[in-house]
Amino acid sequence: MNCIFCKIIAGEIPAKLLVDSNHVVAFPDLNPVAPTHILILPKRHVENAAELAEVDPDALKEIFKVAKKLAGELNLPGYRTVFNTGEAAGQSVFHAHLHLLGGRSFSWPPG
Ligand code: 5GP
Ligand code: ZN
Repeated sequence: MNCIFCKIIAGEIPAKLLVDSNHVVAFPDLNPVAPTHILILPKRHVENAAELAEVDPDALKEIFKVAKKLAGELNLPGYRTVFNTGEAAGQSVFHAHLHLLGGRSFSWPPG
């Protein structure tokens, strides 16, 4: 499978792993859109968040726990978490990943 995040998990593409647990990894986004922009994802290849909820809800839970932990370590007063699902919503890598964004203010509704 030609999945860039599976390659990062396999160590074939470099990334600075901030978290590397049994089921979850986290690393900085290559093209950050906020001062803090971290991707948190399951090691298991699933396409999107809904599929992850179906096949491994514990991993989905762990992903949000990791987001809270990292946000605390980084002293973020607040943070935004985003799962893009589908090309129309901006998903470009089809291995489920949570964007953890912080370090600036965010507008609502999102663009
Ligand atoms: P999506 O658009 O699917 O929600 O998010 C994919 C994210 O992956 C993008 O923000 C993009 O910058 C990031 N990304 C794509 N390729 C790489 C890579 O090789 N390394 C890292 N660290 N991030 C990547
Ligand atoms: Zn993958």
